[in-house]
Amino acid sequence: MSIKNVVVIGAGTMGNGIAHVFAQSGFGVTLVDIKEEFVKKALDTIASNLARQVKKGTLSEDDSKATLARIVTSTDLPAAAKQADFIIEAATERFDLKKEIFKTLDANAKQGVILATNTSSISVTELAAQTGRAERVIGMHFFNPVPVMKLVEIIRGIQTTDEVYAGIKSLTETLGKTPVEVNDFPGFVSNRILMPMINEAVYCVMEGVAKPEDIDTVMKLGMAHPMGPLALADFIGLDVCLAIMNVLHEGLGDTKYRPCPLLKKMVAAGMLGKKSGKGFYQY
Ligand code: NAD
Repeated sequence: MSIKNVVVIGAGTMGNGIAHVFAQSGFGVTLVDIKEEFVKKALDTIASNLARQVKKGTLSEDDSKATLARIVTSTDLPAAAKQADFIIEAATERFDLKKEIFKTLDANAKQGVILATNTSSISVTELAAQTGRAERVIGMHFFNPVPVMKLVEIIRGIQTTDEVYAGIKSLTETLGKTPVEVNDFPGFVSNRILMPMINEAVYCVMEGVAKPEDIDTVMKLGMAHPMGPLALADFIGLDVCLAIMNVLHEGLGDTKYRPCPLLKKMVAAGMLGKKSGKGFYQY
């Protein structure tokens, strides 16, 4: 697989990080979003994250400049897709939207180009089914913040071939990341384990087992977690946590994945965590 030009779709939290790591590893990157202001903002974020690496001494000034110079932006997805050797989609987590993107990619990308998705919870197999190249569609699940976090869950759809998996595994290693092979099931491995733990912590709050600070202290000091589950839920966004619990509940059909009523109530109240200023903690 010879990859020179990478197209990253979605210039939000994950897309700018993914563009950053590909460009820093020497790939030419086209970062695509729906509005010029979104890609401009992403470029500013990448520039300030690169500047932080230079300040820390982990990247030279020259490499930082070269990384930025390898990134171009676009709001024309079909045109960008035509030039791509590899495409990764990191757009908003909505099935209808991703479905349209995959149809557009399939219609425009060169034959043989692998189409990857960074989705946290949508079925890779179902996205693959929107294309005429299901065997070349795969999940590449990065973690936030992308330039810092080492893990990439590589999600095999039911039809993803061994050759495509091997190519993406090697690409992940080229980025300096650690790949883990996962089959396509709701929540993959990361959210299948993390979200029920967070949900259980919310049940502990609802049932008055302990206060949020104390629940987080138990998990930090007793289980050596770097962050307590409720602080982490606030950081991820309680709406995102609820959406993923719903995916697990519907997809696996087991009542053990039912979202905690308190989590639903907080989301309904607009208490979404850090981004809204209030969740289990005040910000
Ligand atoms: P975000 O809201 O920060 O960014 C999404 C971007 O996609 C926005 O800039 C939006 O304008 C753009 N977009 C929407 N429709 C588009 C289209 N048709 N074409 C091009 N761009 C489009 O979201 P995010 O947190 O970066 O999440 C992106 C994806 O990554 C989601 O699938 C999410 O599940 C996944 N993910 C998120 C995290 C996380 O911690 N935030 C972690 C792993 C995976």
